[in-house]
Amino acid sequence: MTEPARPYDLVIVGASFAGLVAARTAAMRGLKVAVIEAKPEAGHRVATTGILVKEAAEEIDIPYTLTKRVHGVRLYAPSHKHIDLFAPGYFFLTTDTANVLRWLANEAMRAGAKILYRARFEGADREGGVFRFHGMNIAARFILGADGARSAVARAFGLGVNTKFLTGLEIEYEGLANADPRFLHCFLDSKLAPGYLGWVAPGPSVTQVGVAVGPGRRPNLKAFLAATDPIFGYSGARAVERRSGRIPAGGLVHPWSTDGVMLVGDAAGQVSPATGGGIKLAFELGRRSAQVIADHLMDLGPPPAVALAAELPGFATKKVMRAALDLALPNWTFDIALGLSPMRRLAQHIYFHRRNAGGLSFAEFEAKLSRETAPGLPYPKASPGA
Ligand SMILES: Cc1cc2nc3c(=O)[nH]c(=O)nc-3n(C[C@H](O)[C@H](O)[C@H](O)COP(=O)(O)OP(=O)(O)OC[C@H]3O[C@@H](n4cnc5c(N)ncnc54)[C@H](O)[C@@H]3O)c2cc1C
Repeated sequence: MTEPARPYDLVIVGASFAGLVAARTAAMRGLKVAVIEAKPEAGHRVATTGILVKEAAEEIDIPYTLTKRVHGVRLYAPSHKHIDLFAPGYFFLTTDTANVLRWLANEAMRAGAKILYRARFEGADREGGVFRFHGMNIAARFILGADGARSAVARAFGLGVNTKFLTGLEIEYEGLANADPRFLHCFLDSKLAPGYLGWVAPGPSVTQVGVAVGPGRRPNLKAFLAATDPIFGYSGARAVERRSGRIPAGGLVHPWSTDGVMLVGDAAGQVSPATGGGIKLAFELGRRSAQVIADHLMDLGPPPAVALAAELPGFATKKVMRAALDLALPNWTFDIALGLSPMRRLAQHIYFHRRNAGGLSFAEFEAKLSRETAPGLPYPKASPGA
């Protein structure tokens, strides 16, 4: 009679930003790890714009060819009057997101994790020291729920669930020549994007155009495209993909762990309620979750949730900002405010984390970049139509 296989030390539910980084770390730390993912492959039908803030880019070294560095933010008022924001030394990476996720999956497997696709988590029962998964021949000592905004792991174990969401719609264009690649183009407009923003983000191969709205509202991408068509000229480009998704906006869920089970990433509400950015935290806390789980399972370190609790963001300021954004101020206030220095300072603070332009105009900054950029890494020039 053959012995049943040794249970996994850790089964991670969800092969996306948080789950794959956690899998790689846990496998490198010597755990026997499996990831179960409902989709047929990592990167299949991604539901995110996938822009990385500098801090996320510093957390995980992603191949250069899958990203594009963008230094500036062009922030538009509803009248389309705009200001250009930047901070020397800071940048965003737009990404070929599907391939970033495929690359992360390969990294996790290279470290020794097993990834099981088309495997949907539908519950697990604890018997003795191990969880046995419903409908799958899998057992694990610990479960990490990295299964996104509407986590099935959270529901199965009676953990907290996200209740407040931003809703986003996005379309990808090939050949959108008029989108100046030096900027993320962000649009304040309480009619078109109440409670959040519209955006045009030039990526490494396509340009992503989207709109997201605050809780209880519906995004109208068609109206956003119509309003911004005079700037970007969508008819000259080819729409290649569409997507929609929900972004947790209520802060951390409670509780986010129970004996042998923990949540991470969107499942745990680890997303900035103000900006809707979650990838940086998914990377950071995916990695840290795996470390504290490995410490616990291998060295009898403290329960992982105890070890991690002090490191979680409270989001106090960002929740206040979310409440202000939810008010969706009338458009004339944005039109007036955008020209004023308090608004510039606030935007600079939000996008560049208190860094300022160092007394440079964007043109001076750009000239300095062009002079100082290493050969072979060309700084993107404005497109001809810009
Ligand atoms: C339109 C939109 C634009 C965004 N833009 C940005 C941005 O530019 N920058 C940024 O930082 N953040 C952005 N976000 C937020 C960001 O995408 C998320 O914070 C991030 O994807 C969270 O990663 P995650 O690994 O926690 O979960 P997810 O990326 O949601 O992945 C969860 C995974 O779990 C799988 N799964 C779910 N249920 C099950 C189940 N029962 N069994 C097995 N597998 C399951 C899913 O298939 C998925 O692969 C955006 C979000 C949206 C919706």
